[in-house]
Amino acid sequence: MAQIEVCGVSHRYFTMKEETEALRDVNLRVEAGEFVSLVGPSGCGKSTLLSLIAGMIQPTRGEVRLFGEPLRGPSRRVGYMLQHDSLFEWRDVLRNVLIGAEVRGLDRKRSERRALELLDRYGLAEFAWHTPRQLSGGMRQRVALIRTLVLEPEILLLDEPFSALDYQTRLSLGDEVARILRDQGKTVVLVTHDISEAITMADRVMVMSRRPATITADYPIRYAAGRLDPTAARREPEFAQYFNRVWEELKDHVRV
Ligand code: ADP
Repeated sequence: MAQIEVCGVSHRYFTMKEETEALRDVNLRVEAGEFVSLVGPSGCGKSTLLSLIAGMIQPTRGEVRLFGEPLRGPSRRVGYMLQHDSLFEWRDVLRNVLIGAEVRGLDRKRSERRALELLDRYGLAEFAWHTPRQLSGGMRQRVALIRTLVLEPEILLLDEPFSALDYQTRLSLGDEVARILRDQGKTVVLVTHDISEAITMADRVMVMSRRPATITADYPIRYAAGRLDPTAARREPEFAQYFNRVWEELKDHVRV
């Protein structure tokens, strides 16, 4: 069964001054355990689509279904990770990781055990009582990811989670995050404007057009060598082929 279904969705924003048509007739299905990436020109409506799947906004037309049910508001089965980690500087790493669990009123002991397990498993145990300021940018994003994982979401929505980082950090964090998400067996939708990131992390890449955006192409990504870390995938012969195919599709939508 598809975990995410976006059926004929259009979305318009209305402000006092103007009306913006962000999405037009978007259709998308994501199966359990799939890792899908959305690429498109900046301002086309990628974050809007994620916000609709997160149930934070309602579509003007069409319907979003999660786990076969129409979505009426934010779902506890969905986690969200953004470009900025929004960690609280006055709380240590562990207290940051537990924030969502506190807000939801989950059992404190159980959440703390899970948080410490995740920090340990993903190489951050020794930083549990450090403040975010003592961590590198890549470590902060890993903390933000763990904060989401503590809530045990089945679906993870990632909105440009690496774009605020320098290139080297981006590469190694990409490997790390791909490994964590695979290990956890999550269904993932990653929004990015970086083609390399999309074709090395995802099982499927969808290209969105200029605003009002619709999905214009849907490419399965398979490396003959199997499921690889993103940096290893960059060295494979298919990498350049996938890159060119996605770029050929995308470049018509990009204005320079
Ligand atoms: P992307 O993520 O692809 O960069 P967005 O989904 O953020 O694009 O935005 C799509 C369009 O919708 C843009 O033109 C943006 O200015 C507009 N938009 C986004 N959020 C709002 C809002 N809350 N109110 C009005 N317009 C918005």
